[in-house]
Amino acid sequence: MNSVEKIELLGMNMLEMEDFAVSQGQPRFRGRQLHRWIYIKDTSSFYEMSDIPREIRQQFDDKAFISIPRVLKQRVSEDGTRKFLMEMNDKKRIETVLIPQSANLNGRYTLCVSSQVGCPFRCAFCATGQGVFQRNLSAHEIVGQLLGSRRELRRRLKNPQEPLITNVVFMGMGEPLLNLAQVVRSIQIMNDPRGIQLGQRHITISTCGEAHGILRLAEEDLQVTLAVSLHAADDQLRDELVPINKKYPLETLMAAIKTYVEKTGRRVTFEYIMLDEVNIGRKDAENMAKLVKPLLANVNLIPYNEVGGLLYRKPDPSRVKQFYNWLAALGLNVSIREEHGGDIEAACGQLAVKPN
Ligand code: SF4
Repeated sequence: MNSVEKIELLGMNMLEMEDFAVSQGQPRFRGRQLHRWIYIKDTSSFYEMSDIPREIRQQFDDKAFISIPRVLKQRVSEDGTRKFLMEMNDKKRIETVLIPQSANLNGRYTLCVSSQVGCPFRCAFCATGQGVFQRNLSAHEIVGQLLGSRRELRRRLKNPQEPLITNVVFMGMGEPLLNLAQVVRSIQIMNDPRGIQLGQRHITISTCGEAHGILRLAEEDLQVTLAVSLHAADDQLRDELVPINKKYPLETLMAAIKTYVEKTGRRVTFEYIMLDEVNIGRKDAENMAKLVKPLLANVNLIPYNEVGGLLYRKPDPSRVKQFYNWLAALGLNVSIREEHGGDIEAACGQLAVKPN
């Protein structure tokens, strides 16, 4: 029997793992053991599961597999950010970024996961959007990014104080709302208190404006944070920077966000990439205030991280501050996002993998 005919265990919830154990003539608690080894210990080899008898491990290995993505390459930034190049079973590659929340590298981390191999949206400033869209990732490949990154971190930081991934943001490669079913399933698995134990309020889904997906997300019973990448506050400029705007112009997008806020009772965050001499004028600030203020939302400003081959430039700090001041004076809750991993092309909008 080759691995294609075997059953993938990663991505199963506890009940499904118990059912798998029963299907193998084993008691249900063997499924709970598998669950613990996979989601707490990041194990992908049955032979490491020392509390399961050897012959049962062999039997499981004959029938199933656990495909935590392989880390092919790892780059570490001066600030401790790690960018992983990961390979899926079908050899498709994606990038995942692990960002320390403080200078203590044995402390807490935020993981930026990818939801697709490439991205069909082709935003003008984004490295991912310049590549070829290949496919959606499945839930087990999304959860696998967390286990694979954590496993690497545990190996590299040989310190008794356990580093923790306490936040996950869907801000890597791809538009998560185009892959909503698998994203939701991955969140349910990461949220399980008997496994990864990641609170839903520590998870952020970021969209470039998939208005239909926002309405669908509002129907899910989730406590996650929604971040909307605005990047321009008038349709003409947004059509240019974020082409999905032609399908869902600002009026449609803002109506979907309003419905989301009313349905879920949760605030949204707006992300705004600052492009020098493109979208940070006084008029842009005024347009943004008109759109965002009624929603009582937070605005996160992200000074652009330059991408080779693209013409956009990062504004100098005085322009960043000026735009920030305008927005604050217009009454918005605004902050400037601290940059991480810019020196290893791991910052926002810089992720890219050549198709294979
Ligand atoms: S910014 Fe996001 S949605 Fe736009 S092309 Fe890049 S990955 Fe896709």
